[in-house]
Amino acid sequence: MTLDTTTLRIAFGAIAITLFVLFYTVSFRQTRSAYSAWWCAAVAFFFTGTFRFLLDGTVHQAWANPLGNTLLVMGTVSVWAGARTLRTSNPGWLQLSVAPLLTLLASVLDNPAANSWAGGPVFLGMMSLTIGLASWELWRLPGSYSKVQAPLAVSSGFLAVLYLARCLALVAGGPDGHVFSTYFGSGITTLVTMLLLVVVSFSAAALSAEQIATDLRARADRDALTGLLNRSGFLDLAATHTDRLARTERPGTLILADLDFFKSVNDTHGHAAGDTVLKAFAEACTETVRSTDLVGRYGGEEFIFLLPGASVSRSEDITRAVSMALRGHSTPGGFEMPTVSYGVAALEATGYDLDAAIAAADGALYAAKASGRDKSVRAIGPAMERGRDSAVRPPGGSAGA
Ligand code: GH3
Ligand code: MG
Ligand code: MG
Repeated sequence: MTLDTTTLRIAFGAIAITLFVLFYTVSFRQTRSAYSAWWCAAVAFFFTGTFRFLLDGTVHQAWANPLGNTLLVMGTVSVWAGARTLRTSNPGWLQLSVAPLLTLLASVLDNPAANSWAGGPVFLGMMSLTIGLASWELWRLPGSYSKVQAPLAVSSGFLAVLYLARCLALVAGGPDGHVFSTYFGSGITTLVTMLLLVVVSFSAAALSAEQIATDLRARADRDALTGLLNRSGFLDLAATHTDRLARTERPGTLILADLDFFKSVNDTHGHAAGDTVLKAFAEACTETVRSTDLVGRYGGEEFIFLLPGASVSRSEDITRAVSMALRGHSTPGGFEMPTVSYGVAALEATGYDLDAAIAAADGALYAAKASGRDKSVRAIGPAMERGRDSAVRPPGGSAGA
């Protein structure tokens, strides 16, 4: 059986445009994920690039050949860029343009008017390289990311190997060589690519939905102003950390921090200045704690830390370092940063009961406020009496105690 390449290419074009329309309307317009945008671009490039083959053997071959090769490589570059957005971010323009430019140059300089395989080795090599990079990006995703990442990585890896084999066969024996024309000719490759395009589009729809879900999950756990964990995000992770500490009987501390006379910052310098102070405090925290420590915005101008493995005295050092880092930040009007009060509780002292540790730290924080602010107070016993609401507060109005 001989595969009629022209018919196959028309079928390929028809499938590509159907997939593009379906993918655009069903997946991209619903999720608007970066991955599905890149996949739409890839399918559009494959569709337009494939049409150049219909012009082979006509007078238009001279321009259609280099343009087609370049468009197809732009398609595989888009597949790679999409896979990269699942792990990190969009690649830069330079990274995106190297492979298409090299392909264009090689095809233009290789007499495309007479040679329908002008620039063929570079074209096939770039296809193999960029599809291989896409496969590698998919492998590097954490195993928990998605059920479809492994089949996607395998199918793109397979395609990369196929293009590499074509490239080597072309270099070794030319387009009319036995190996190239029998095993790696255009007919069989078009058929394989067509099947993979369908498989990959289905998996890509699933992946782009998962990209959105991951993004939403991450945003639901974060405080929009400071970028720290929000209250529920913190409490979820803190529960897991506390359980782990309890199992291994390691120490750990829970700290509540509250900015002193913060209301006066808002009242005197405006709400935007207050927001800047909150962001600066968040930065001071993340600069100071270790990556394994948890910091969250507990609410308003109150923050919460969980420091696994830290003793109470080590935690007091950390609170001092955070306050010092905050003082080092500049403020919009040049006013002085507010001071901070902290309540510190040892998790092991509450039998690794997170709620009890928070209550204990809250009691200690109240004691810090009541005894002059700008200090850390240790919780004594499981939980100090709170009574903050009924306590007499020192007069507010000045930043710092
Ligand atoms: P104390 O030393 O006793 O903690 O006094 P305070 O002024 O810091 O405490 P108070 O509870 O009286 O005021 C907290 C203020 O924090 C009131 C509220 O408007 C402000 N606040 C809460 N959330 C935000 C926010 O997201 N941005 C800004 N700018 N202000 C906020
Ligand atoms: Mg306060
Ligand atoms: Mg407060």
